[in-house]
Amino acid sequence: MPTPKSITIVGGGLAGLTLGIGLRQKGIPVTVWEAGHYPRHRVCGEFISGRGQGVLDRIGLRESFTQAGSALARTGAFYLGRSGSPVRPLPTPALCLSRFAMDALLAERFRQAGGELRENARWREADFGEGVVRANGRRRQPGADGCRWFGLKVHARNVPLAADLEMHGSQAGYVGFCRLADGVVNVCGLFRQPASRADGPQPWRDLLRGQPGTPLSERLAGAAFDESSFCSVAGFSLRPHRAAARTECCIGDALTMIPPVTGNGMSMAFEAAGMAIEPLAAYSRGASSWSQAQQSAAAACDCAFARRLAWARWLQWLMFTPLLRGWPGSMALHSELLWRTLFAWTR
Ligand SMILES: Cc1cc2nc3c(=O)[nH]c(=O)nc-3n(C[C@H](O)[C@H](O)[C@H](O)COP(=O)(O)OP(=O)(O)OC[C@H]3O[C@@H](n4cnc5c(N)ncnc54)[C@H](O)[C@@H]3O)c2cc1C
Repeated sequence: MPTPKSITIVGGGLAGLTLGIGLRQKGIPVTVWEAGHYPRHRVCGEFISGRGQGVLDRIGLRESFTQAGSALARTGAFYLGRSGSPVRPLPTPALCLSRFAMDALLAERFRQAGGELRENARWREADFGEGVVRANGRRRQPGADGCRWFGLKVHARNVPLAADLEMHGSQAGYVGFCRLADGVVNVCGLFRQPASRADGPQPWRDLLRGQPGTPLSERLAGAAFDESSFCSVAGFSLRPHRAAARTECCIGDALTMIPPVTGNGMSMAFEAAGMAIEPLAAYSRGASSWSQAQQSAAAACDCAFARRLAWARWLQWLMFTPLLRGWPGSMALHSELLWRTLFAWTR
């Protein structure tokens, strides 16, 4: 048997580390370059909803999540301004764990599996050529789609929720709540501002609280924020991309971002990593060329993601359209059929 060729993964987030663990389980030499360090807070709704949970089961990570204190979210509710949906059971429970714990546990598991993890090491080559996987997260595109998107995340206590997961839409954006362990609630918002607007955004507390008198502002009225967990991101595009159109081997947000309202981004990162394991292992063992491996992983991603990306775009539009303020929004929020359809088709 020839010695397997090594794989370099740029980005030690969810996609990169999951792929690294999967390849190490097949005996492939892997190096992960990570510009940051562990543990650290990341902007994220912190619930995994969708098929990515199956990938965690297949590569034996579920138990580690449980030991790290993950919780299950079983109910969800949507709000638009002052109108709210009933609290509904989620068709499939979501797995909730802070990114502070999640990324660190994946890094630990990768090291235990014999992977080489270079922390605080930024990949500076322009080239992501043969043997190099691009898993370095969202691509910076300031002012994409005619507006600036930015995301905020902070943990808080004393946030009374009606459901394990709540999503609150407003004119400026949307804010999601997720119940984590020990009474902590993750508060995460996505906001947009026209690219032409020159003034800076409002203070983060005001943005997250939204309009006075709404269920959103009521939830946060007595919140005790953990300021050390506050983080923000900006300058990304939510326009869908096809993997087959990329010349590099990309997984996770480096491939494409799904609108966060779906709560499916982490699942897609795990799924893309899972789908890349076999093709990259075949390349490493000399059973296929790099180009065949890249195309095989890309075709699997496009097949799995195209439909949900299209539906997610539509759901994102629904969150922002003024057409759904007032009674049309209230009707949409009470439609069981719409809820079930959107849940199923965005995952
Ligand atoms: C506001 C908001 C809310 C969200 N809410 C949810 C949610 O509730 N549920 C959900 O499933 N998803 C959610 N997501 C999406 C989810 O966070 C991402 O889809 C997921 O983190 C993607 O994982 P990744 O590994 O591709 O990227 P990341 O987790 O971003 O990891 C990329 C890594 O690459 C590193 N890196 C970058 N450049 C380099 C370089 N040159 N060299 C070395 N390392 C580099 C970075 O430091 C980073 O650690 C949300 C996203 C946003 C913006």
